[in-house]
Amino acid sequence: MTFLFEPPAVTSVPIVGSSQSFPVRRVYCVGRNYAAHAREMGKDPDKEPPFFFMKPADGVVPGGGDIHYPPGTSNYHHELELVVALKGGGRKISVDKALDLVFGYAIGLDMTRRDLQLAARDLGRPWDFGKSFDESAPLGPLHPVSSVGHPSTGAIVLDVNGTARQKADLADLIWSVPETISFLSDYYTLAPGDLIFTGTPAGVAAVVPGDRLVGRIDGLGELSVTILPPL
Ligand code: MN
Repeated sequence: MTFLFEPPAVTSVPIVGSSQSFPVRRVYCVGRNYAAHAREMGKDPDKEPPFFFMKPADGVVPGGGDIHYPPGTSNYHHELELVVALKGGGRKISVDKALDLVFGYAIGLDMTRRDLQLAARDLGRPWDFGKSFDESAPLGPLHPVSSVGHPSTGAIVLDVNGTARQKADLADLIWSVPETISFLSDYYTLAPGDLIFTGTPAGVAAVVPGDRLVGRIDGLGELSVTILPPL
């Protein structure tokens, strides 16, 4: 049997200090994992625990760079996030075994059509239009655990055109990385190549064509993205 047409290319992410790259399988994202961001979205983090949604693997933009202002929105937001990359998988992973699955970490942007997301939320509809679209997940190079360990504290900061918009500490995560992996594995079979966007701090806001975003997380370098006009 041959394919009807050439299969789509596998999205892959560069690895710092390696000639190999990391092939992406699935992209899981945590919503409301910093209390201050939950509050700015009008929710009470004490009453409403985090939850999950997904992005398409081919929405990942390896290395960041230029992305286009997406169609269908007039309120396009940045969400800077710590991203976890898995080298192992399984089901029903315990919290104390979860970090064994982690290959490394990167800086990511969960780009969001906020107007479409909030309209869907308020109507009880899925978030896909708001969260899952082309070029919606710029991602910096992966830093292996062997070089950076498991970052659980340290600054996470996003500048837009040189002005700080988001600023927090990884210690502010409501659910830690191992707790998030363990929780997800109760609902999905995790596998090598899975990415987990761990949620964004407060300070999300709109960007427009011409804006330059620079995200930084202590120990993980920086991720630069420029917003181009729509296609
Ligand atoms: Mn997010």
